[in-house]
Amino acid sequence: MICSNITRDPDGALRFAGQSVEALADRYGTPLYLMDEARIRDNCRMYKNAFRKAFGDKALPLYASKACAFKQIYRIMAEEGMGVDTVSRGEICTALAAGFPAERIWFHGNGKTDADIRYALEHGVGRFVVDGHEELEALNAEAGRHGVRQKILLRVTPGIDPHTYEAANTGRVDVKFGVSIGTGQALEFVRAALDMPNLELEGLHCHVGSMVFDESVFEDTVDVMLAFMREVKENLGYTAETLDLGGGYGVRYVESDKKADIPGRIAALAEHIRTRAAAEGLPVPIILMEPGRSIVADAGMTVYTVSAVKRITGFKNHVIVDGGMTDNPRYCLYGAKYTVLHASREGGETAVFDLAGCCCESGDILQRAVTLPADIKRGDRVVVCTTGAYNYSMASNYNRLGRPPVVMLRDGESYVAVRREGLDELCALDI
Ligand SMILES: *Cc1c(COP(=O)(O)O)cnc(C)c1O
Repeated sequence: MICSNITRDPDGALRFAGQSVEALADRYGTPLYLMDEARIRDNCRMYKNAFRKAFGDKALPLYASKACAFKQIYRIMAEEGMGVDTVSRGEICTALAAGFPAERIWFHGNGKTDADIRYALEHGVGRFVVDGHEELEALNAEAGRHGVRQKILLRVTPGIDPHTYEAANTGRVDVKFGVSIGTGQALEFVRAALDMPNLELEGLHCHVGSMVFDESVFEDTVDVMLAFMREVKENLGYTAETLDLGGGYGVRYVESDKKADIPGRIAALAEHIRTRAAAEGLPVPIILMEPGRSIVADAGMTVYTVSAVKRITGFKNHVIVDGGMTDNPRYCLYGAKYTVLHASREGGETAVFDLAGCCCESGDILQRAVTLPADIKRGDRVVVCTTGAYNYSMASNYNRLGRPPVVMLRDGESYVAVRREGLDELCALDI
């Protein structure tokens, strides 16, 4: 199976985290997001342990909560001793509502408004990751009005191309995030930050992309960042204490994806950082990283019920389900690959189908060319695996579809972490 928390009984019945998928679908309805709580915690502990071993006690993994954000996730992150990244007032508000400590929140975003800045300051958010000059000035002014000296990191772009898909490429010189090192603008950005009386610069942040498998991407990023930190030290007499390397480790969606040995990669990266810091004449910085996908992706599965099977003679076959781009827009956005399974049968005669959603949009495809039992029919259940990241958090109400519930699986039991969005709730904002 694509992931160790997915198994099949001898009679073909699929289990997720040890529980019958069909039984969960009967109980909670479909479409349905399932999440394996133990897997989320295991992934956090994997990062925490790897960090402690590789970088020491001050280093901290920050869960990039845009990957999947609701109250129970933030409670789990609090219990596991993670920091969290947020990108909006909504994410901050959700974290705080869950009792997540404000000082362990990092506030990202390349377009923070005055209202965003005020909200985060009022709620005592630990760090801002400042994306540009306008934000630097607005934050300095607002921090002054609040009588605080706000801790910040500066987001810079190292000009690294992680060779993943275009939409997930954030480190190149011409992206909309951060300030470029290569053009010399980042040095001026640091100079400006050091001049701000109400801001305390802790260090630098970068994030080069997502679904990174290439062994050298983080090492190359470290080389550019440490060289820049030396340039800053020589020119401005400032030594950055913290280096945040962003998120991006890839996960396995289909059998052909590599399985990343993240603890091994982190250990190797730490060795590389020590060597390069020494070569640049710098102390080893406090390291932060921001895993999102690799914390939650393999903890998730989406269950659908088949509404129709269309066999277009001489062309292709479609399996149409009761969800689609509204609960998982990733195939539509960038052709994301997923493993699709029948929930109660495997083997026998198979056929190739496009798995299509129920939205009025011909591009509403969950996955093309998936192999399923040839006799699949209305009422059967199919699952899309590895949907824990960037599915619920990207869900929309297109066609006025309600968002599916999130049901957590723990120790052989299940509980609702997010309720299904009902018809009355869809009209709740309408006057
Ligand atoms: C999206 C994002 C992350 C998380 O990336 P993953 O690929 O999900 O690990 C981390 N940091 C920043 C700044 C991001 O934008």
